[in-house]
Amino acid sequence: RVLVGTKVAEGHANYETAYNMLTGIRFTVSRTQAKLDRPLNIEDFDTKHKFSFDVGGGELTPATKYDFKFKDYAPWVFRELRNKFHIHPADYIMSLTSKFVLTELSSPGKSKSFFYFSRDFKYIIKTIHHHEHKFLRKILKDYYKHVEENPNTLISQFYGLHRVKMPFGRKIHFVVMNNLMPPHKDVHSVYDLKGSTLGREYPEDKLAEKLKNEQFHPTLKDLNWLNRGLNIELGHNEKERFVEQLEKDTKFLKKLKVMDYSLFVATHDLNRGNKDRLRDKTLQVFQPNPEDNGPQPGVLARTPSKLEHARRVRDLRESVKKERPVPMQSATDIMPDEADRTGEFYTDDGGIRATNSDGTPSSTVYYLGIIDCLTRYNTVKKLEHLWKGFTAGKEEPKISPLPPQRYGDRFVNFIKRITKGADVAEKQRASDSAR
Ligand code: ATP
Ligand code: CA
Ligand code: CA
Repeated sequence: RVLVGTKVAEGHANYETAYNMLTGIRFTVSRTQAKLDRPLNIEDFDTKHKFSFDVGGGELTPATKYDFKFKDYAPWVFRELRNKFHIHPADYIMSLTSKFVLTELSSPGKSKSFFYFSRDFKYIIKTIHHHEHKFLRKILKDYYKHVEENPNTLISQFYGLHRVKMPFGRKIHFVVMNNLMPPHKDVHSVYDLKGSTLGREYPEDKLAEKLKNEQFHPTLKDLNWLNRGLNIELGHNEKERFVEQLEKDTKFLKKLKVMDYSLFVATHDLNRGNKDRLRDKTLQVFQPNPEDNGPQPGVLARTPSKLEHARRVRDLRESVKKERPVPMQSATDIMPDEADRTGEFYTDDGGIRATNSDGTPSSTVYYLGIIDCLTRYNTVKKLEHLWKGFTAGKEEPKISPLPPQRYGDRFVNFIKRITKGADVAEKQRASDSAR
């Protein structure tokens, strides 16, 4: 996946969807936050709230630009999860909805998910398949418990699960989660590692071309990592703790029979800092430019039918007549928190500082996390079956459906193999005794 984004603003094919997602989030999150704190109960995990938004405004809901339906899943549970991940509610709402602008990543993968960054790059909205949606709801209790017992989990931090449906449109499920990439730093390399080599290479010639054109870094894979002889270079103690957490998290994923997840590794080089202004360049690419033959935005929402169009024109006229702003509850007058990325592996500039083999601090900062954790083995097997049916002998399947146990073991073993822990104490003792 190439990290070049398109700004989804008014006029973009997916603007309506993005607007509806954000409006729904703003409304439901403010509503949930406004209620008194109370301990979770077992029903909270199955709760779903449905809201109808329309241009005229409803009894419960404010007037909006478009008509749509919005479902909020397990709001109390996600409120608690945000709390556990130290996400300040006002900051969350502000980051996502202070302006209705998102950045859409181009070239959705084979899963056909769409990714959107919040305007300040702190959060990611990922559209998910119905399978994944059902699965997350099913495991929500286990996930909650895992987060409770593992405040430093490396697994994706889920902050919300929602569904949006436009008139005549299909249902779009999505999650809000942490963007592992640092919002204010240039990212100098990005890897997605699974511990497999089958099809796990981003073509090096294509990469060279991308870099020549000063485009943002594509996500590289296992073989690119191995070709470069790279390691995750940590200090002794950090390695111990990282591996320990990785093992706990993988054990959890194995228990849930999940597979196909990866370790996301992004790096920032403190020596290079932000001087290459990759972020700015990326943002330039984000500006939609009609003369640019670059990535074209995919269309998440169908183009409106004639009927729908007529209805929208009517709605628009009405909304102009009774223009009424969407109320911003409580969020605007509270300043957002500065540092909201917490947890043991996110403390050095939002990541973890590398250590040289001699124990001295390195100029590299890693941003690590386990992503794409909502695919169950059974689902992959089913999909696999479909693919085989479709491609009959033409193409090899891209995923090899290892049983979750073996997938997890291979994953952990690979990451352990490429993680180094400089034993500072050992070196220090050696040099001390040599003196
Ligand atoms: P597929 O199933 O084809 O692998 P997907 O649509 O399920 O794709 P993911 O694997 O979740 O997508 O993510 C694709 C890429 O998006 C990752 O390799 C990574 O570069 C980026 N990405 C995903 N999640 C995050 C995150 N939380 N923070 C930063 N980048 C992310
Ligand atoms: Ca993936
Ligand atoms: Ca996936």
